[in-house]
Amino acid sequence: MSLLKRTRSLETRVSEVDPRRLNSSEAEILVNEIIDVLTLHSHLYYAQDHPIISDSQYDRLLQCLRELEESHSQAVRSDSPTRRVGSEPLDSFDKVQHAVPLLSLSNAFSDEDLLTWYNKCRKRLQVEESDRLAVTVELKIDGLAVALTYHNGVLERGATRGDGRTGEDVTENVRTIKSIPLRIPLDSARLLADDPPTPGVMEVRGEVFFRISDFEKMNARLAASGMKTYANPRNTAAGSLRQLDSSLTAERPLRFFAYSLGPTSSPVPNSQTATLSWFERMGFAVNTHTDIFDTIDQVLDFCQLWREERENIDFEIDGIVIKIDDLDAQNRLGNISNAPRWAIAYKFPGREEPTRLNDIIINVGRTGKITPEAVLEPVNIGGVTVSQATLHNADYILDRDIRVGDMVLVKRAGDVIPKVLHPVLEARTGGEKSWQMPPHCPACGNPLERIEGEADHFCVASECPAQFSRLIEHFVSRDAMDIEGMGTMLALQLSGKGIIRAIDDLFKLNAPILSSLEGFADKKISNLLAALEVAKTRTMSRLLYGLGIRHVGKTTAELLVKYFESMDALSRAPEYMLIEIDGVGAVIAQSLVDWFAIEENQRLITSLQALGVNTSRLESETPTGTSSVRLAGQSFVLTGTLSAMGRKEAGEHIKILGGKVISSVSSKTDYVVAGENPGSKLVKARNLGVTVLTEEKFLALIAQGN
Ligand code: NAD
Repeated sequence: MSLLKRTRSLETRVSEVDPRRLNSSEAEILVNEIIDVLTLHSHLYYAQDHPIISDSQYDRLLQCLRELEESHSQAVRSDSPTRRVGSEPLDSFDKVQHAVPLLSLSNAFSDEDLLTWYNKCRKRLQVEESDRLAVTVELKIDGLAVALTYHNGVLERGATRGDGRTGEDVTENVRTIKSIPLRIPLDSARLLADDPPTPGVMEVRGEVFFRISDFEKMNARLAASGMKTYANPRNTAAGSLRQLDSSLTAERPLRFFAYSLGPTSSPVPNSQTATLSWFERMGFAVNTHTDIFDTIDQVLDFCQLWREERENIDFEIDGIVIKIDDLDAQNRLGNISNAPRWAIAYKFPGREEPTRLNDIIINVGRTGKITPEAVLEPVNIGGVTVSQATLHNADYILDRDIRVGDMVLVKRAGDVIPKVLHPVLEARTGGEKSWQMPPHCPACGNPLERIEGEADHFCVASECPAQFSRLIEHFVSRDAMDIEGMGTMLALQLSGKGIIRAIDDLFKLNAPILSSLEGFADKKISNLLAALEVAKTRTMSRLLYGLGIRHVGKTTAELLVKYFESMDALSRAPEYMLIEIDGVGAVIAQSLVDWFAIEENQRLITSLQALGVNTSRLESETPTGTSSVRLAGQSFVLTGTLSAMGRKEAGEHIKILGGKVISSVSSKTDYVVAGENPGSKLVKARNLGVTVLTEEKFLALIAQGN
């Protein structure tokens, strides 16, 4: 039986049993099977950097194994993955014996797990109930661990973790990573007066990883030269560091963050916090999203915050690492077989799961762009059922050889549309079918076109009903004209019935027309008509964005309005003038000129004006004058619930006044606006001395001079 089939049948078995109810021989059989299967997967993951199941699948089986071992101690094996770290190093590299093992981390999958761990630490350390026990929190970067040895300040060796005791010598490859210092200062005058002297021998441990933006740029470069692209930053980082030819590693934009010390020949700082800042002063890159807390509630807030914010940073994280801050306390707590007792990883829900690709359909967007979409066997990814995912374009499918009937790995990250990453080739049966882009638009039957140099196909027929429905959907959406009561379904119903054939028809709706529609009573009609009246007064940037001009997103629309006082003025702007604007490239300029050149679009603007829709810059959008640039260059972080206007609207006000909204607090942040139940950002702001505004004070600030 193939490994995948074995894994799947094992997954079914473990989902059906309660480990505590098995008798000892049943438990032993199951333990042996899980260990065998996980050992094979570990080899694929650690040695070959080519896992064939998702991390969540692996973690679920591992968790079941842990539970079995807890209730059936006679079944525990010394080679169990619950007691081991990684897998044996590859023979192709020289081996490095780690003087102090590089361990894994125990996991917390819930708030209770974390609390249990913290209380156990307090108990073992005999901390009095009234005393504090400080812990540090760090992002758990999803890369691979390396140990760097410095002799008299010079990088002498870089090694992977391997099985924790023996790693691979990857010195030459590590030297190619620009964020790893080849030399660190021995001259203590460069460091703080309290810093210990740099030890003659010192091992610095940390994570090698890809920034997502670097990873995507690398993939774009590879695709442009017709080469294979990569799906997963973590596995690619591991594969890149373990190249036998270091010139190949050098081509990959890998990065490094330092997070702890291995053996050293002389004393070092006495806490995790002090170690991290010492690293920074020595020239190591250290992740700045760290904090120190002395209650578990603050830790949970931090975990919750980063669960939501994980999409907004440029590298992948799979949890938060919590460590007892004091090094002496860490030493007293010691280790279990494969992990320290003084640290724990609070794991975030997995974002990738395998499922069957049942079909590929195509979706016509508002600009006529054709997007192939995967119809999936519904699958639960981190608590949400996913049954559709994007396949981007025909090349994406072709490059990855994705076939209908394949098992595919699907990724869901935050609010972003889920996407198919790649097929699981090991699961192929031979019955899968290759897919090709159909030649005609499924909505209007006109031929699809592919613009030279672009990956996407387009339906260029202006009368295509699918494009129009999408455009209306977009025009009425919250970020555009925000027409309350005009949901997607009604927009589709009206366009489907031919009541609205162009955007301006929306503003021609009246009570007799609406009362002919099913489910439209007087109240609903008057609410909708009132909402349309309000929509007529929306800002010019909302209107411009709502028109759905290709490449003109929300930010571009806001930018353009700073330069052009009306739709008329914008429609007359020549391409060379548009290109001059910082932030408007040739592509956007061309798209605008093309859009305004179409007679029907000119008619649309004139008609909207005649119907009373605002087509000029409003006072609130004015770029000059005292009020609009009052917050120019100032940065704001919003945290907690803002009851008067909500975070989104508050952000819009800040932008209109020239300020910017950023996601995390640093010493450079100008203001932190704290609403109700603020998260750890507030704590950080206070620690860094950043000005904190209550919601009231913030409202007063933006109202000044208006
Ligand atoms: P881990 O990744 O859960 O945690 C330990 C590692 O965290 C450390 O070695 C270090 O590299 C990293 N780390 C990141 N930031 C850190 C920080 N700030 N401080 C300290 N450490 C930090 O444990 P592991 O043993 O490396 O890997 C186990 C996990 O690997 C599994 O839980 C599973 O998700 C995955 N895995 C997947 C497969 C598969 O087939 N898909 C197979 C084996 C393992």
